Amino acid sequence: MAAEMMQDKKEQNIIMYCTGGIRCEKASAYMLHRGFKNVFHLEGGIIHYANKVKEQKLVNRFRGKNFVFDDRLGERITDEIIAKCHQCGQPADTHTNCANEACHLLFIQCEACASKYSGCCSEACNQIIQLPEEQQKELRKGMDKGRMVFNKSKQRLRPRLNE
Ligand SMILES: [Zn+2]
Ligand SMILES: [Zn+2]
Repeated sequence: MAAEMMQDKKEQNIIMYCTGGIRCEKASAYMLHRGFKNVFHLEGGIIHYANKVKEQKLVNRFRGKNFVFDDRLGERITDEIIAKCHQCGQPADTHTNCANEACHLLFIQCEACASKYSGCCSEACNQIIQLPEEQQKELRKGMDKGRMVFNKSKQRLRPRLNE
């Protein structure tokens, strides 16, 4: 936990921020409780900050895209791309959910990989979504059993085809 890592920094200024200002509000209250003296948090989070910057024409200090928890999966703040495609490593900052219903992994994918894998996180998922819906349903049945015994220390269970 961050509080332990910063034991010796109780007199220093600490600033916390998050997407919408809810989580860091709680986190900064906790830090104060633990004896940290100068804890600040960004009121309203990055969403509010970005609006203020626009409104008051301030110098924007937030680069790239702010991840948000609604369908947009991200709000562009500046045009800089500071993340990488999880598949090919090229600069990309578009979050996507794997198109395979049984997987739905949230990951970052560039446009080239999006078309190469049809919006899937892997070749295996890509092959699954090419199957008829009926067959996909059959596979998902098997998956649900796998999920119930899902264990964090193990790799996520995923049907493999042609392997
Ligand atoms: Zn890519
Ligand atoms: Zn997938």
